[in-house]
Amino acid sequence: AAEVFEKRKALLGPSLFHYYQKPLNIVEGKMQYLYDEHGKRYLDCFGGIVTVSCGHCHPDIVNAVVEQTKLLQHTTTIYLHHAIVEFAEALTSKMPGNLKVVYFVNSGTEANELAMLMARLYSGNLSMVALRNAYHGGSAGTIGLTGLQTWKYPIPQGEIHHVMNPDPYRGTFGSDAAAYAKEVEEHITYGSSGRVAGFIAETFQGVGGAVELASGYLKLAYDIVRKAGGVCIADEVQSGFGRTGSHYWGFQTQGVIPDIVTMAKGIGNGLPLGAVVTTPEIASVLSQKIQFNTFGGNPVCSAGGLAVLKVLDKEKRQAHCTDVGAHLVGRLKSLQEKHESKLVLVFLVSVIGDVRGRGLMLGVELITDRKEKTPAKAETTELFEKLKDLGILVGKGGLHVTALRVQTMELTKTFFITDFLVDAMDYAMSGL
Ligand code: PMP
Repeated sequence: AAEVFEKRKALLGPSLFHYYQKPLNIVEGKMQYLYDEHGKRYLDCFGGIVTVSCGHCHPDIVNAVVEQTKLLQHTTTIYLHHAIVEFAEALTSKMPGNLKVVYFVNSGTEANELAMLMARLYSGNLSMVALRNAYHGGSAGTIGLTGLQTWKYPIPQGEIHHVMNPDPYRGTFGSDAAAYAKEVEEHITYGSSGRVAGFIAETFQGVGGAVELASGYLKLAYDIVRKAGGVCIADEVQSGFGRTGSHYWGFQTQGVIPDIVTMAKGIGNGLPLGAVVTTPEIASVLSQKIQFNTFGGNPVCSAGGLAVLKVLDKEKRQAHCTDVGAHLVGRLKSLQEKHESKLVLVFLVSVIGDVRGRGLMLGVELITDRKEKTPAKAETTELFEKLKDLGILVGKGGLHVTALRVQTMELTKTFFITDFLVDAMDYAMSGL
């Protein structure tokens, strides 16, 4: 690991970040497990940053990729190929409303870049509205949509307004969706020309710390944005494909149908793949020029992506996220209560401030005192390291990096493994 780390530091850009004081050198993955160079096994509760939707190296997906690679790896869309249309057909069959046209790309950033372009062309307006605490990408365009200073380089951010994220735990208006929506309206009235190109939001802010938006918010925000001439974009890069359990898409948990949906990560179970799905009417704005992407919809990724959709259905992974997620939330809430009483006995220790999310899209936020909700920065880092030592990999996020994230679709149905995660957290927290 030391040699790889030294070479990486010398050869790769210094903006890369890594988890753990001593970064892990992972050499193999099998379903819910990862193995380091010494053969130590880790329970992967983060799935390569919310990407591995069907387990590491799922045989059906590996097989689809290998078979397609042997037959034909690449041509681009200048020729016809059956895999891209089969994949598009399967993907659009999962979409509600008139969301029937797909542009395939290679990443979430590219998907959001394209969505923003379409919103601007379709509406004839420039202003975009995005949420604070959002992550939508790091390219010159999407960096403007991202609402966390950690990822923002000082370049022109474009015509973008960041409105309050309706965070029920930390947000100024708590769970009051109408109050947050009013702020969207005021931004449009006072901050821009009164007209907007579009609005983009994740239903569950992943990088922002697994924050589920206040219930009812998207419906109100979408109405306001559409009245101002804008299109509504749902960023499903993290919350799509059944991860939330109750619904296949995150936006469905809020009872809305967006005009454009962007996706990546879980769509490919690790393949570089992204997609933008929209209505035929909105898609047609790009026909005035050519929108070309060399690798977008290539045969290998299309075959792999189709295999992912099939595995998700065949193995009923959405239902499985509901069951395992409910069990896990129940146990985490008990843990929250347990460590609450410890606060009374022992003066000022880190406690679980919030357990949130649905399905296997969960966040656990640590604070040092319940009244002020002071972020438990050092304690979160310590717990994170301890869990790793106990063989458990979780994610972390949020502005203060005090939310632990469990965002995998690969915890087994037996609950045994999720219990292992909670017991390990309990054990590790007792020593904080
Ligand atoms: N949107 C969301 C919600 C994301 O979490 C991410 C990646 N963290 C992106 C977009 C960008 O995806 P990519 O890294 O594939 O460009």
